[in-house]
Amino acid sequence: MKKLLALLPMLSFSALLTAVQPALAQAPAANPALPNIKILATGGTIAGAGVSSTQYAGYQAAVTPVDKLLAAVPELSKVANVTGEQIAQVASHNMTGDILLKLAQRVNVLLASKDVDGVVITHGTNTLEESAYFLNLVVKSSKPVVMVGAMRPGTSMSADGPMNIFRSVITAGSKDAHGRGVMVVMNDQIIGARDLHKTDTMTVDTFKAPVFGYLGFVVDGKTHFYKPAARKHTTATEFDVTGLTSLPKVDIVLGYEDDSRTAIDALVAAGAKGIVHAGAGTASVSAAVQPGILDAVARKVAVVRSPRASLGIITRNMEFDDDKFGTISGDTLNPPKARILLMLALTKTSDPKEIQRMFDMY
Ligand code: ASP
Repeated sequence: MKKLLALLPMLSFSALLTAVQPALAQAPAANPALPNIKILATGGTIAGAGVSSTQYAGYQAAVTPVDKLLAAVPELSKVANVTGEQIAQVASHNMTGDILLKLAQRVNVLLASKDVDGVVITHGTNTLEESAYFLNLVVKSSKPVVMVGAMRPGTSMSADGPMNIFRSVITAGSKDAHGRGVMVVMNDQIIGARDLHKTDTMTVDTFKAPVFGYLGFVVDGKTHFYKPAARKHTTATEFDVTGLTSLPKVDIVLGYEDDSRTAIDALVAAGAKGIVHAGAGTASVSAAVQPGILDAVARKVAVVRSPRASLGIITRNMEFDDDKFGTISGDTLNPPKARILLMLALTKTSDPKEIQRMFDMY
């Protein structure tokens, strides 16, 4: 606006109108009775496009810009003052630590403003569990942060994105949603970031909370909550990404029959600061891999045991001598989420005892 005013004497009236109109189009008058919700777009299938209405696989993810995503849901203007911002445009398996940091820092800036009541983040479903849990640990506000994706591209018959966006905005604008940590809204369900599991490659109801259950539901424009988030989150954590420019390198190694220490040795040599070992059963470690873990820990690499099965609890010294090996038990986090917590833990400490405290707490 300031720039336009400076140009005022040089512009004809019609040129001035042409210059001002796009700015006005982007900022419709806000309805003071409605919550102000910011939509941050990062890509995914929710922004995907195929060549026909019957293409559900083989489409291209992360192509539709945020203004088009919002224009496809005109009902939003009845429930919130919504504005969009493009943070990234990637399929979520291409999400990086840099994008996560940029996203988290932007969410914190937005939520610190009294003009923003809640944030909705559109995201690919492939790694939604990881990004949601990351934000759950580093957002510093009790205002609602809701993440949303879609299993079908916007061009397909019965696309699920528009309804999911609508319900996310309802949730982000709900007074009842405050203080529950980062939530994911898909279909009718509201799921806590820590509890979220993607269970199926294709089905629309892929997201479940099989161990801890849903936080609530969204029905006809109203949220219904049944419980708080299970563990400490957002304002109650010790993690702070303000000014952070990179995350420590943490990798995941899968345990399987007849495995070897080769992967662990290679990752340590490549500079990993932490390794999550996704072991079979109760996160067991084979006799062939054990010396690799001992050597990694001796080189100050933090090693967390997490279950390959993804569901269930791993306690300390459960069928493995964590005390002897200097390893950390991963509690109920699946391997990708254990990697997220380990990265954040390593921004604070490399002491395995301290990291164990964090796994027992978050
Ligand atoms: N197929 C994925 C999705 O459902 C693509 C991605 O994760 O970006 O969003």
